Amino acid sequence: MPDLEDLHARVASCTDCALYKSAINAVPGEGSPNAELMFIGEGPGAQEDAQGRPFVGPAGQVLNQLLASIGLKREDVYIANMVKHRPPDNRDPFPGEIQACAKYLEEQIKLINPKVVIPLGRHALAKWFPKDTISKVHGRPRRVGELTLFPQYHPAAALHNPAIRPALEHDFQEMGKLLRQEDIPAEPETPEESGGQQLSMF
Ligand code: SF4
Repeated sequence: MPDLEDLHARVASCTDCALYKSAINAVPGEGSPNAELMFIGEGPGAQEDAQGRPFVGPAGQVLNQLLASIGLKREDVYIANMVKHRPPDNRDPFPGEIQACAKYLEEQIKLINPKVVIPLGRHALAKWFPKDTISKVHGRPRRVGELTLFPQYHPAAALHNPAIRPALEHDFQEMGKLLRQEDIPAEPETPEESGGQQLSMF
């Protein structure tokens, strides 16, 4: 079975959508292969593109602070994005680009098999729950097959709108409590009900 290193190498040489053309580096993801928490953002920004690492800019600093608030470090979790190359001028990734890149994210989830997947912001949320808004469903654990999802605001949202920060901090505390439970209570919900995609193994 291919491992994360192999996957990262394939991402680095991928030409399956046009995003690689304007990017400096691929940003496949990083963190513990045994992570219980897996965070999924939208796509790399300028600093992530320059360094080839996810969440290393201002939003990454917010994420680091939130992780520290529940006693975790970046190395304890896994951090990835919906698309692995930076969209030009930080535009939203196109649906075709998200679709082309989905195979890598799905493989990462299978390899890491986290206890909780945290879609950060609306683009990641839309993979599973395209009819929902992040303001409505953040901080509520939901189940899709074997997968437990815990949608949260994107940390960048707290930079643009400081009023979001308390909700983000609260959700992290709740997630920290859930993580200590053997069985995480989550709303059962199928992607068919919400119109999302279902990972083949989940
Ligand atoms: S964004 Fe994803 S699908 Fe597009 S070139 Fe990069 S790795 Fe390949």
